[in-house]
Amino acid sequence: MSDVLLPGATLGVLGGGQLGRMFLHAAQSLGYRTVVLDPDADSPAGAVAHEHIRADYLDEAALAALAAACDAITTEFENVPAHALELLAAQRPVAPAASCVAICQDRAAEKAHFRAAGVDGAPYAVIATEADLQAVPDSLLPGILKTARMGYDGKGQVRVRSRAELQAAWSELKQVACVLEQLLPLQLELSVIVARGRDGTVVQFPVQQNLHRDGILAVTEVPAPAVDAALQARAAESAARIATEMGYVGVLCIEFFLLQDGRLVVNEMAPRPHNSGHYTLNACDASQFELQVRALAGLPLITPRLHSPTVMLNLLGDLWFDPQDPASAAREPDWAGVLALPGTHLHLYGKANARRGRKMGHLNVSAATPEAARATARRAAALLG
Ligand code: ADP
Ligand code: MG
Repeated sequence: MSDVLLPGATLGVLGGGQLGRMFLHAAQSLGYRTVVLDPDADSPAGAVAHEHIRADYLDEAALAALAAACDAITTEFENVPAHALELLAAQRPVAPAASCVAICQDRAAEKAHFRAAGVDGAPYAVIATEADLQAVPDSLLPGILKTARMGYDGKGQVRVRSRAELQAAWSELKQVACVLEQLLPLQLELSVIVARGRDGTVVQFPVQQNLHRDGILAVTEVPAPAVDAALQARAAESAARIATEMGYVGVLCIEFFLLQDGRLVVNEMAPRPHNSGHYTLNACDASQFELQVRALAGLPLITPRLHSPTVMLNLLGDLWFDPQDPASAAREPDWAGVLALPGTHLHLYGKANARRGRKMGHLNVSAATPEAARATARRAAALLG
């Protein structure tokens, strides 16, 4: 498809979560009509779409209706059945392609792709059978056993120190296909958001630095305090190679580890905008969601410019509960207090029920200097409890 879909055309998204919602916001801002397919009547994206097709992702009649209603379609999550994307792609342009999503769905395929692209990752082995388990070299211990499919936010992972623990962990994970990775000495974690167009153009945001708590992203900071120009260039070059080698079209997030000895290794990727790229909504002249729209519609991809140092705080459902009295009823955090601080940009996803660990929104704090952004972010975090 080389035709450009100009504003006025209809763009669709599979999945109705916050990533779909922010994609729709960007699409609507550019003048597109929007459709979402999601089974949940109260989905964050369904609430803002021009049209919400409320059905399962494997409902063939619903997929046909989505294709009929849209000029092009994207996805907000990688666990969408590849079959659903193939059905859609037979009728309309779909980006990213089912083949790319399939790679990102499976840690074994993903790691093989990183190797093929010539980008270093953690040493690993694929464990699909008892024989694979026995054949694991000692050098991979201590390690992390991760399910090959469906893991996120640290779920589906077990740390193992010995062969006995590995055996027990694989049983605990129901002996599904897994990868065992060597446990690496991390200095810190980084990620990069890339957008690639149908014509092969690749543009990127600057590298961002991420802090996780309990396996869930907590804070992202740009510019990344620990990243100099040489490291930025290394990450950018690796990310571009990973996207180009699979003929990727759309927005892709690639996570990296910076090791204590200064080596940069790739961790995993997501075939969509990413939580660690939410800062782009207020820190850059085009957001990751705008670039997703542009890539899908075949509009020009421009290199986004970071105009304000920014700290992003993830707002999890825990903030809705009194830490002194966890059994108490949910209450609204002090938004007015937070919004009285300079440079605060609140993004709430419209989820009715706060639950611990649930991503409810995020707060971008931008300022003229990284120090000022950090100081205000600290004040905001204190107000939120
Ligand atoms: P998820 O899909 O849950 O984000 P990741 O593979 O990114 O899974 O792992 C979650 C977190 O676990 C990482 O952000 C990192 O902190 C830690 N981790 C993962 N793999 C390794 C490793 N090989 N060595 C050290 N820490 C790791
Ligand atoms: Mg991760």
